[in-house]
Amino acid sequence: MAESANPSAVGWTTSSPDMTAAIGHTPLIRLRRASELTGCDILAKAEFMNPGGSVKDRAALAIIDDAERRGVLKPGGMVVEGTAGNTGIGLTLVANARGYRSVIVMPETQSQEKIDFLRMIGADLRLVPAKPFRDPGNYVHVSRRLAEETGGVWANQFDNLANREGHRATTGPEIWTQTDGRIDAFTCSCGTGGTLAGVALGLEDSARAAGAARPRIVLADPEGSGLYGWVKSGDLGVSGSSITEGIGQSRVTANLDGIAIDDAVRIPDPEALELIYDLLIHEGVSVGGSSGINIAAAIRVARQMGPGHRIVTILSDGGGRYQSKLFNPAFLRERNLPVPAWLDR
Ligand code: PMP
Repeated sequence: MAESANPSAVGWTTSSPDMTAAIGHTPLIRLRRASELTGCDILAKAEFMNPGGSVKDRAALAIIDDAERRGVLKPGGMVVEGTAGNTGIGLTLVANARGYRSVIVMPETQSQEKIDFLRMIGADLRLVPAKPFRDPGNYVHVSRRLAEETGGVWANQFDNLANREGHRATTGPEIWTQTDGRIDAFTCSCGTGGTLAGVALGLEDSARAAGAARPRIVLADPEGSGLYGWVKSGDLGVSGSSITEGIGQSRVTANLDGIAIDDAVRIPDPEALELIYDLLIHEGVSVGGSSGINIAAAIRVARQMGPGHRIVTILSDGGGRYQSKLFNPAFLRERNLPVPAWLDR
């Protein structure tokens, strides 16, 4: 049956768009203060606009689509994943729309807002103690074992290339179109690396097709992540720590493997936090900590490149997801982080 242009006229059919049609196609916002500060055009993809509130909806949809295509995810089936929360939210919403169940394994250190939201949307949530990747109790390994034991499909976002391919097919080309192919650099932090790698590949594809040079790709890394050292010197050494969630990595995931990353910057938390507070109170854009790391990196790259360049980055999720942490004076004070004046009234 042909897809109806006006589904309400005939009732919803299986060929009518479901919620997955609302994933992606996000606006590209000009960050006014960052642009004025640097004399560059600093633009950011508003990924907090996705139905699940984060950039990870794209990866979730790409992974489920791929599992369906390969025939491993069957009607009534189950998706199992280890996640800092956002991928679990995306997977659960897409699973709900398609009639699958979701089991989500998450470190208990992640924000209460993400925990509450996952429960609200019906995920079978399993909180586990935070453990390093080398520990068998790490949430990623727990989720893999759970999938094996239950016969569920393990989404495996870190090493499943459907993740970066989703961004290569959507986020990258969207950025190319929204900038008319005029983009000098792209900065992004990594959890799985799917966003950075997929956008890098997508921009490379678009640039090649247009006979243009590809933009510079710069990793934005928080303290406590090994990737900065890996890009700079090939050594995954770690120092410091970060209160940001969903980013930082101690290994080269399959999604990151083979990607041409030109440079890396390491951003301390206070630098990122100041930027998200400024963006919220002066420009009305509410984002989480990883977006702050991304914006800080875009500013540093703009300063390195000089005025007149155009740098694009990602606003990965919204600030409301961290109200109890990054926007909570008591939480900030406990960690000796500055409290923004308006939160202190
Ligand atoms: N920011 C946030 C808030 C996230 O939850 C994630 C994913 N864990 C990322 C950034 C990193 O995205 P990716 O997994 O594509 O590297």
